[in-house]
Amino acid sequence: MTENSTPTPEGEIAVEVQNLGVVFGSGANRTEALRSVSFKVPYNRSLGIVGESGSGKSTLAKVLVGLVAISSGEVVIGGKQFDKSGNREKLDPRLLQLIPQDPYSSLSPRRTAGEALAEALDPLHSNVRRRRDEIASWFEQVELSASSIDKYPHEFSGGQRQRIAIARALCVQPRVIIADEITSALDLSVQAEVLELLTQLRKELDLTVLFISHDLAVVRHISDEVAVLQDGEIMEFGDVDQIFIDPQAEYTRELLFAVPGGPGFRIRD
Ligand code: ADP
Ligand code: MG
Repeated sequence: MTENSTPTPEGEIAVEVQNLGVVFGSGANRTEALRSVSFKVPYNRSLGIVGESGSGKSTLAKVLVGLVAISSGEVVIGGKQFDKSGNREKLDPRLLQLIPQDPYSSLSPRRTAGEALAEALDPLHSNVRRRRDEIASWFEQVELSASSIDKYPHEFSGGQRQRIAIARALCVQPRVIIADEITSALDLSVQAEVLELLTQLRKELDLTVLFISHDLAVVRHISDEVAVLQDGEIMEFGDVDQIFIDPQAEYTRELLFAVPGGPGFRIRD
């Protein structure tokens, strides 16, 4: 049930971003949040997107799920092309799901964790009772007990809430997930657990992952390639180990030295 039904040929592109630009506001309030951003992510690969606060990471995630409008350039998701004239309502939720920075923004305080999944599974006729087994199996996937189904978001710890947010995104069985700073608010040990879970799910479910963080050490754990964003532009793009061993951009070097333990530090090997 949790497997994607059709295997995707190795190397085919899941997400392509081409000369993407996003401008907010105008006049004195004009902010160019993204400038000529281009990259490709093949299916079953994981791209880490790293940069300081304000570098445009969340804007990029929001463009991909259709929450922020494209000002210039285009994105292609699962072969579907979107540009500034694009109608994003057509994007199949099974192509792409966002796990947002703050799980409270995807989990209503008035709905139980089970209801959050039931709603994602069937927005028009959500019904926990009818889908209880299916929901329970997703809770199991993210290592939460079946009794969690009837609890409300505030009854969970931060790490558990992120597990629910992950389950909610995954139950739709998307090909691609975008995780935006999903471990940033967590203690280091819980961070490592959530990263480990996502790494494991990625393999089990053949997921394509865009993993966003301001922390290069966290990104390293889960990425095949890394894009380094600064002020809305990609400063460096490449193989994750290469970027750690031999960073090309000065900004990447600064990010590396901002990592506790200095370059080469890993949360877990
Ligand atoms: P990050 O996620 O890397 O911290 P963001 O993508 O949230 O960065 O923000 C990038 C830039 O765009 C920042 O300067 C931010 O203030 C600006 N920005 C983001 N969203 C909006 C918005 N809705 N309206 C105006 N400016 C915005
Ligand atoms: Mg952000």
